[in-house]
Amino acid sequence: MSGATGRTAAGTAELDWDRATEEAVEHLRALIRIPSVNPPDGGTALAAGRDPHGAETAAAQYCADVLSDAGIEAQVLESEPGRGSCFARLPASVSDSEAEPPLVLLSHLDVVPVDGDAWSRDPFGGELVDGIVWGRGAVDMKDMVAMELAVMLALSREGGERRRDVIFAAVADEEAGGLFGARHWVEQRPDLFRGRDGRTAAAALNEVGGYSMTVGSRRVYAVQVAEKGIIWTRLTATGTTGHGSMPHADNAAIKLADAVARLAAKAHAPRVTPVVRGFLASLGLDAVAGAADDGDEERVQLELEHGTPDPVLRRSLNAMLHDTVTPTVIRVGQKMNVIPGFGQAEVDVRTLPDTDQEALLAEITQTAGPDVRVEAVLTMPPVTWPADAEIVGLMEAALNRADPEGVPAPMMITPGTDAKALALLGIPAYGFAPLRLDPEMPFLSLFHAHDERVPVSAIRFGLPVLHEVVRNFVAA
Ligand SMILES: [Zn+2]
Repeated sequence: MSGATGRTAAGTAELDWDRATEEAVEHLRALIRIPSVNPPDGGTALAAGRDPHGAETAAAQYCADVLSDAGIEAQVLESEPGRGSCFARLPASVSDSEAEPPLVLLSHLDVVPVDGDAWSRDPFGGELVDGIVWGRGAVDMKDMVAMELAVMLALSREGGERRRDVIFAAVADEEAGGLFGARHWVEQRPDLFRGRDGRTAAAALNEVGGYSMTVGSRRVYAVQVAEKGIIWTRLTATGTTGHGSMPHADNAAIKLADAVARLAAKAHAPRVTPVVRGFLASLGLDAVAGAADDGDEERVQLELEHGTPDPVLRRSLNAMLHDTVTPTVIRVGQKMNVIPGFGQAEVDVRTLPDTDQEALLAEITQTAGPDVRVEAVLTMPPVTWPADAEIVGLMEAALNRADPEGVPAPMMITPGTDAKALALLGIPAYGFAPLRLDPEMPFLSLFHAHDERVPVSAIRFGLPVLHEVVRNFVAA
């Protein structure tokens, strides 16, 4: 009960949020100092899942120790040596017959590799400078791991009756598709996401959402209720090897370059899906939706430029309006004077909720042309969860209380997260890592980027908000 300063009407202990924030910041810094890079060798994303030497276990053990020290039952489970995940549970206090399905506090422990030269500070130093925590994972997503840890500790300290189990699940391998993390545990141990009576969790709180973005005079808190779908696509070209001094047309490098250039040049018409329409309205950007409704790509771009000066937000909004086909990897050739007989390219395809993924893949195959073989190496459907669910209402209420001038708004994100794995069990995973950020903070551009950092003030704002949502969803 340390940190308690009194008792509330509900019979729970009052919490000291300054102290809880300090604790969360220390957990964040400690987690940043554990370089749980995925993949450890910095190799390609598609090959990543095969490397058994991830450092997530050390991070999982850190979480388990913090929870165990507070008297919360916690365990570290490995899908492969080194690929550890931490699961813990605060059980419902009511009888089994009164208990309702659990709430999952979901996070991932792995981080993407760093380009150390580009950083102004040690990416694994966990430095706290002028109220800002620096390091890989500060934004994606050890900040939320630390906040969810702090919420578990707060719930345990304050006591009170709970009608749901609260499950802490900090997993490995999100950055490479989750085959050794969320996906693995969902398939191998679905009981980890169920209550005592076997019912699957009612909801999960996850990353990429809850933070504020400022457009003009509006401060909008994006509550993530949908994710685009994924088709990770590989192109393979073959040819006839030969001496570079005697050129011929059957050259894998030329075939691959042609196909990639055609895919990059191909336009995809703008479309406004319901969640994005509402989100654009919250940002005051209805004109963007209008232009997209008219299929007027040029006007979409003009309205975006007119509507927001932030280029990263513009890119994000643009991607919410289109299926995107992004070549990311090209590997072909060994030597200047050898015509290559084999090459591969990787293309990151992201689909809107109403896109027929098979039809889009067929179109991509046709665009790439007959000289390359096109295959989908990983396909994940989009997810959309009800924006009018009880827990979303609790998020909006908590945000309104904490920042009466801010506007909570449901949003679709363009990357994929472990929400897709929990979707296999039917668990809605909402992106809600609440942070209040200064308008100058280039938050969106810090995901996977150098100089990743998060202000302590944002955590000081978000921690009680996150706690309030969790407590109100589980309180008996
Ligand atoms: Zn992440």
